[in-house]
Amino acid sequence: MKLLEYQAMAVMDKYAVPIQKGIVIDAKEGAAEKIKNAGLHFPVVIKAQVQIGGRGKAGGVKFADTVEEAAKLCGEMLGMDIRGHKANELLVLEKKDIKTEWYLSIMLDRCSKAPLLIFSPVGGMDIEETARTSPEKIAKVPLDPLRGVQDYVINYALDKTGADKQYKHQLKEMVEKLYRMFFDYYTMLVEINPLAVDENGRLTALDGKVEVDDNALPLLPDITAFRDKLQEDPQVIEAKKVNFLFIPIDESGAIGVMSNGSGMLMSCIDLISKKGMKIHAALDLGGGATSERIAEAVRIMLGRSQIDTVFICIFGGITRCDEVAKGACLAMSKKEASGKNLILRMEGTNKDEAAKIVAESGLPITIAEGIPNSVDTIYRIRKGA
Ligand code: GDP
Ligand code: MN
Repeated sequence: MKLLEYQAMAVMDKYAVPIQKGIVIDAKEGAAEKIKNAGLHFPVVIKAQVQIGGRGKAGGVKFADTVEEAAKLCGEMLGMDIRGHKANELLVLEKKDIKTEWYLSIMLDRCSKAPLLIFSPVGGMDIEETARTSPEKIAKVPLDPLRGVQDYVINYALDKTGADKQYKHQLKEMVEKLYRMFFDYYTMLVEINPLAVDENGRLTALDGKVEVDDNALPLLPDITAFRDKLQEDPQVIEAKKVNFLFIPIDESGAIGVMSNGSGMLMSCIDLISKKGMKIHAALDLGGGATSERIAEAVRIMLGRSQIDTVFICIFGGITRCDEVAKGACLAMSKKEASGKNLILRMEGTNKDEAAKIVAESGLPITIAEGIPNSVDTIYRIRKGA
């Protein structure tokens, strides 16, 4: 679960990470009053609260010198769309005067099998550019879970990147706080970008990202409480309710892939991608799906209007092929499915019976043999369409 900035900052605040003073605005009405009563020092910075970064470049970060100007900007920014994410809330903060923008994060790194510290004295909105053009300005250090944050880690980070060593103690303290947060909150990522050096030489977090492992949510009531404010994907929610796993992949794709088992699902995704086609979403059906459940899964998939082709790949063991065929027919006979194609690849129990059901239905369902051949079929059908 990715927290909104103000939620991430509330967690950082618990660990005494220095943050800016501010308030959350969620309605145009009364915004001026609320900002005035908060007693903020002007100028302020107003930031759209969405679960993605890059807001600065997308017009989601603005500055205001007066209450009136701030309230006006709030009116304009509430509800704004940032790359498909709607800003229902804004964070209004006292603007910091800063000298430089650093980058600091700890992420779960599956390659080093450890929390990985990433630090750069050239942070801010162009951190990706820094990574491309000056990789020597970025230090990546795996943190040994038995040793924690040692001096050598910080020394290395500062040495490698050529950052000013006078900040060593502050940086170490900051990393220690993030490291504790990383474990206590079962996070996959904690990031501060920019970690600003202010005019008094104090490190302050001007932006925060926290991503929590969903599996730990039952242990984290304070994080679970943040959930209502997040815009969760409607298809993910719908699928979860009926015990399917819906995985959004690429907004620009037009293919929906389903399979019974994550391994085969990933193989299908790999082969389709290798053929140069984009997948919009994937859905894991799990074992033993009945025709009703298959129909439900196709219906959820077609809830994404961008999808024009659904591929179902089944290895029929506990899941019977005839049930799958019946479910596919049921879903494709619905009006929401008109104009859409379904490619069905099945192997196993009652395969012949399934083929008969599909043939007799007269619906736009194509049966294919084997995964590579199915991928070619998807390619051909979509090209024809
Ligand atoms: P992001 O683009 O989504 O990462 O949003 P940020 O919250 O990181 O803001 C983007 C940029 O706005 C930062 O990199 C800073 O350059 C600038 N910015 C944000 N808040 C402040 C502030 O309080 N003072 C100053 N001087 N710049 C700020
Ligand atoms: Mn940022």
